[in-house]
Amino acid sequence: MLKISKFFEAFLELVYPRLCAGCKGASTAPICKECLSKIEMVDETSCRYCGRPTEYEVEECRDCRGKKLYFDKARALFVFEGVGKDVIHSFKYDRETRLAPIIAEQIIDRNWYIDLDLVTFVPLFNRKKIEKRL
Ligand SMILES: [Zn+2]
Ligand SMILES: [Zn+2]
Repeated sequence: MLKISKFFEAFLELVYPRLCAGCKGASTAPICKECLSKIEMVDETSCRYCGRPTEYEVEECRDCRGKKLYFDKARALFVFEGVGKDVIHSFKYDRETRLAPIIAEQIIDRNWYIDLDLVTFVPLFNRKKIEKRL
């Protein structure tokens, strides 16, 4: 049974080669090393409230100061630009679920789960839902 599934996997790989979520080149990993290195990760120096990258750690940044936001605090793994944006789009629109363990591992590494109530996504706009017929 195991051999058949391996054969089937190899066949699928031949017909539908796996692509990197960033550059869309052939890659056995969901994201190739080169693209992974291009993602701008958000480190400890970020706004403690909204999670935006800042020059140094602040309680509130100029983007969230004085605004009524509907969460206690938010965190981001990486900046939503360039390859980071491609990765999120691949996850959301192409259903590239192989990225989920990679993202989960990053969350675990940062110990965010200790005081975490919810891991969620930024919902699609209704228009996009209609386009996707969800
Ligand atoms: Zn790539
Ligand atoms: Zn902020």
